[in-house]
Amino acid sequence: VHRYDVESDILAQAIVDYARDRLRLDPVPLDGSRSWADLTAAVGEMITPDGLGGVEVLGIFDKLLSRACISVDHPRNLSFIPAAPTKAAALFDLVVGASSVYAGSWLEGAGAVYAENQALRWLSDLAGFPPEAGGVFVQGGTLGNLSALVAARHTMQSRRTVAGRGAEPTRWRVACGSDAHSSVQAATRVMGVDVLVVPVGADGRLTGAALARALDAADTDIRDSVFAVVATAGTTQFGIVDDIRGIVDVAHERGIWAHIDGAYGLAALAAESVRHLFDGVAAADSFIVDPHKWLFAPFDACALIYRDPALARSAHAQKAGYLEVLESPDAWNPADYAIGLSRRARGLPFWFSLAAHGTRAYSAAVEKSLATAQAAADQIRALPYVELVRDPQLSVVVLRRLNWAPENYYEWTDKLLQAGFAFVTPTVHEGETVTRFAIVNPCTETADIAAILATMA
Ligand SMILES: *Cc1c(COP(=O)(O)O)cnc(C)c1O
Repeated sequence: VHRYDVESDILAQAIVDYARDRLRLDPVPLDGSRSWADLTAAVGEMITPDGLGGVEVLGIFDKLLSRACISVDHPRNLSFIPAAPTKAAALFDLVVGASSVYAGSWLEGAGAVYAENQALRWLSDLAGFPPEAGGVFVQGGTLGNLSALVAARHTMQSRRTVAGRGAEPTRWRVACGSDAHSSVQAATRVMGVDVLVVPVGADGRLTGAALARALDAADTDIRDSVFAVVATAGTTQFGIVDDIRGIVDVAHERGIWAHIDGAYGLAALAAESVRHLFDGVAAADSFIVDPHKWLFAPFDACALIYRDPALARSAHAQKAGYLEVLESPDAWNPADYAIGLSRRARGLPFWFSLAAHGTRAYSAAVEKSLATAQAAADQIRALPYVELVRDPQLSVVVLRRLNWAPENYYEWTDKLLQAGFAFVTPTVHEGETVTRFAIVNPCTETADIAAILATMA
């Protein structure tokens, strides 16, 4: 099974053909979920003592399993945050898989890490971070936020020790807005720390002033226990960008780490038309952005970048006798910057596509989604039976269908998916069920939006 033989060659051809055919489809089939029982009846047990043969298994994946997965790159898949990998990025993922690269350390993965770091550098420069900034591609925004917060707490602990500020608080705290992503709460649960939830304004934004008020109103021991503030650069629900400048300033006045969660929204740093919304990012201590969301990379990749990577290294680097060989002053070991040790060079598909197409193509593709979102908002304003819940800031459009009960939304979602036409899920905002278009695919046209809206009439 480890030698390249005739069978491997036949399989190689079949797999390359499969990949080529999938990438060629335009549009891709939307496909849909199937129940466990249904899949068991159709597919059944495939792991056997003697094996079924690669071509046979690939055929079952092609005909049955892949079709029981909703295509995230369908232009009318507007649910959650979908994805739209470039062909170059998707193809290069095959190369990464074939190359047996260990990308946790410079010693083993220098070439891959060098390339990944170029992609991180582009993002870091877009954010206005200094030349010494850097980080790592992790699995997703959830691990990115967790890793940044662990570095923030470690930094605060060391500073307190050095300053002789004595005992740690009984519970550390992270401050964030009431619309921060659920992964911030998840990270604090893992870390065993509390959250100081600061209310957002009527416009959905967390401001520096609200943060300062919340900190000032808190008891001294609570105020002293806040080691990080998370500002959201594009909420998942609405695409709202917090008052980043104000939040970072208030955090820094008080010696608190400022982390920017831009998993979805910071991709729009590449778009000249909305760059001003992110004013203040350059002063933050860390940020994340997911190339698998709005930067056209396949799952899974989150860029996690620190202003001062040495702080992250001292929090995250694992120490062991067998790892000492990896330590050298100019070795950039990605594993030192996040939770995790072994890692796939998951930043490479993004790097390859950026290098192949150039950054201008990325700016244009992000601008395209922004324009489609504005066009969607215009269409909604013009129709009598729907209305915007808020004006979109980035590329998420939330709308209500007048006179629909929650079950109408769910039935409508099922109907569109079953027809293989679109995938648009409901969401709940302030107790009300509404629906939401998350537009990150440059192939989503205003005609697609019009066709979806027509089905709500
Ligand atoms: C999607 C998202 C996350 C979580 O990212 P994953 O890659 O899904 O783990 C965190 N924050 C925001 C704002 C997001 O949109």
